[in-house]
Amino acid sequence: MARFLPIAAAVIAVAVFMLDTLTTFDIAIAVLYVVVVLLSLNFANQIELVAIGAGCMGLTLLSFLLSHGVELPADSIGRCFVSLAAIGITTFLAFRVKAAIGILADSEQRYRSIFLATGVGILQMDFTGLKTAIDKYKSDGVQSIEGIESLDPGFVRKALKLIKLTNANNTALNMFNVPNIGTLEMLLPALISAEMEGKVWKFLASIWAGNHSYEAETTIKTSEGRQLIFLYNVAVPLDRPALDMVLISILDVTARREAENELDAARSQLAHVARVATLGELTVSIAHELNQPLAAVVTNGGAGLRWLRREVPDLKKVQFSMESMVADATRASDVIKHLRGLSVKSSPNPVNVNLNEVAEETVALLQREIDVNQVTLRFDLADQLPEISGDRVQLQQVVLNLLLNAIQAMAHAPGGRRELLVKSLAEESAIVLKIHDTGPGIPPEVRDKLFDPFYTTKPDGMGMGLSICRSILTAHGGSISATSELGAGTTFEFTIPFIKEVG
Ligand code: ADP
Repeated sequence: MARFLPIAAAVIAVAVFMLDTLTTFDIAIAVLYVVVVLLSLNFANQIELVAIGAGCMGLTLLSFLLSHGVELPADSIGRCFVSLAAIGITTFLAFRVKAAIGILADSEQRYRSIFLATGVGILQMDFTGLKTAIDKYKSDGVQSIEGIESLDPGFVRKALKLIKLTNANNTALNMFNVPNIGTLEMLLPALISAEMEGKVWKFLASIWAGNHSYEAETTIKTSEGRQLIFLYNVAVPLDRPALDMVLISILDVTARREAENELDAARSQLAHVARVATLGELTVSIAHELNQPLAAVVTNGGAGLRWLRREVPDLKKVQFSMESMVADATRASDVIKHLRGLSVKSSPNPVNVNLNEVAEETVALLQREIDVNQVTLRFDLADQLPEISGDRVQLQQVVLNLLLNAIQAMAHAPGGRRELLVKSLAEESAIVLKIHDTGPGIPPEVRDKLFDPFYTTKPDGMGMGLSICRSILTAHGGSISATSELGAGTTFEFTIPFIKEVG
C-alpha cells in the first residue's frame, strides 16, 4: 500500500493541474493540492514535504498563468491566493507534524530498545480482569483481602488466570527459557507453586489497597526443575487506574543469593568452629581453676582422716583440716559462680526495652532464613506493650535462638506447612512472648532435657541455645517453657516481669 502512495499523490497532482488549467469553474480547485501534501506525509521527509508543497504552489501559479494569460480578473486572483494560502499552511502544518512524528518515533524506538535489551526481565500485563473480580468483592461488602481468602480460598488460582500477559522483553523470555510470549503466558500460572500462594495473597492485598508499587523476592521452579530466585517489582502507572498496563520487572538474583548462602554457611561454620575451640579452651582453664581447690580438698581430707585415725585423734588438727576443706570447697564454688556470672552477665545498666521491637528487629535479621526456607511469618503483637527492664542484645539473642530453632525444625519436615507465629501479650505483671511453629514437635523423651546444656538432636548442634536462653531469662527475673504436640508443632513461651508504672 505504502509503495503506491507516491504514485497516487502524483496522479492527484496531475489531475488537479489539468482541472485547474482546462476548466473554468468559479471555485478554487487548486485547494485540492492539500490532499497531495497530506498524502506525502506518509512517505516524504521534512525537506521533501517542503519541496512538494512548493511544487504544488508552483503548479497553481502555472495553471493561473496558462488559463488567464496576462489579463488578471480580481476574483481569479482571489481564488488563486486562497489556494496558495491553503497549500502553504497545510505544508507548514505537515512539516510540524512530521517533526513531532520524528521525535515520537525516536523516543518510541529508544524505549523499545531499553525494553528489549535491558538486563531486567520486563512483563507487561493486563490486570483488568483481576481488578474487576476484586472490585466485585468490594461492592459485595467484603472488607479486606482476608475476607476474600476466607470466602474463597481458591481465589489465588483464579486470580492468576485473570491476569493477561501482553508483552515481554527478550530478557524475560530467556529467564524462563521460552521461545515466545504465548508460551510464557501459558506457563506463568504453573510457575506459581502451592507454597507461593501466601506471597500471591500479599500481592493481592497490595492491589486491594490500591498501591502503585509492590516489591518482593520469590523462588520459582522452572519447567526443567531449576530453582530460581527472583526479585520483582510490580509498577502500576498512576494514569492507568484500570490496571490495563502493569509492568513487572524481574531481576534474577539466583547466582547472587547462592554466593551469599555459601558465604553465610562458611561464616556460620567458622563461628561454630570458633565456638567449639573457645569452649575447648574454656574447659581447659575451668579444669585448671577447679583442679587446684579440689586437689586441696582431697589433701586436707586425707590429712584430717590421718589425724582422726591416730590412737589418740588430734581433734584440733582435724578441725584445722576440715576448715581448710571448707575454704577450698568455697573457692571451687566461687570459681563456678564467677563462670556463671561470665556466661550470663546481666547488663550493668539495664535499659527499658519493648519486646515487640526486639521481636521485629530479630525477625528482620532472620528475613533471609525465613524466605529461603519458605516460611510464612505472622505477627500477633499486643498494642502498647508495657516495657521491661533488661539487656536488649541478650533478649534479641533469646528470640533469635527460638526463631532459628523453629525454622530449623520446620525445614526438616518436608512438605508440611511452614508457619511461624510471633505473639506478644501483657499479663497482670509480666510480658509473655510466644513463638509457635508448625514443625514436627518435640518427642516426649526430648522434652525433659531441652534446656540442659549440651543437649542437642542436631548433627551439628551445640545444645547450648536453650540453656543460654533460660539463663538470660532467669537473670531478667523471667522464665521459659515449651509446649508441644507431636506432629502439631511447638510453642516456646517466655515471661518477663515488666516495670510497674509508679502512681
Ligand atoms: P541446638 O539448636 O544447638 O540443638 P538448643 O539448645 O537450641 O540447641 O536446642 C536443643 C534441642 O531442642 C534441639 O536439638 C532440638 O532437638 C530441640 N528443639 C528446640 N527447639 C525446637 C523446636 N521449635 N521444635 C522441635 N525441637 C526443638
